[in-house]
Amino acid sequence: MQVCSWVRNQPEFYLKYHNEEWGVPSYDDRELFELLVLEGFQAGLAWITVLKKREAFRVAYDNFDVQKVANYDDKKIAELIQNTGIIRSKSKIISSINNAKIFIQIQKEFGSFSNYIWGFTGGKIIKNTNDKIPVSTPLSDLISKDLKKRGMKYVGSIIIYSYLQAIGVVDDHETTCFRY
Ligand SMILES: [Zn+2]
Repeated sequence: MQVCSWVRNQPEFYLKYHNEEWGVPSYDDRELFELLVLEGFQAGLAWITVLKKREAFRVAYDNFDVQKVANYDDKKIAELIQNTGIIRSKSKIISSINNAKIFIQIQKEFGSFSNYIWGFTGGKIIKNTNDKIPVSTPLSDLISKDLKKRGMKYVGSIIIYSYLQAIGVVDDHETTCFRY
C-alpha cells in the first residue's frame, strides 16, 4: 500500500495519524482547537515531535476544552511550564491561552470556529492535484493575517497551511497515496 512520502518508514503512530486523521475534514470545534494549539507548539519543531506528546498535551490541557484553557491562571501556567510531557515553551503556553480567548470570540461571532474557518473556502475542500506540496498559499496568508489581526500568535502562514492540511480544508495527500 502506497502512502505519502513523509510517512514512509516512520513509526506506527505517525502512519496511523496519516491514515486516519490527516486531511480528513473536521467540523468539530474541540478538534479544531486542539490542532490549532498543537500546530502553534510545532513552530520550529517537527510535527512528529508534537504528535508524540499529544496524549500528554490532552491531559495537561483538559482535553482542549477551550473554555477551561481560556481561564488558565498563573498557577496553571507555572504547572504547564514544569510539565515534562509537553513542550515547555513559556511563550507558546501563554499564547495558547490567549489564542483560546480569541477562539471563543470567533465562536461567538460566527456561531462556531468551524463556520469561520470553512467560510474561507465556502465549505470547499482544496484537493492537491500534483505532488508539489507548498508550505504556504494565498489562502493560508489570508487566514494567518486575519487571525493575527484578531490578536492570535503562532499563527504564521506556514503554521496555518499545516493546520489547514491537518483539519482537511486542504487535502494534500500525494497522488500515489492510497488516501488520495
Ligand atoms: Zn497520504
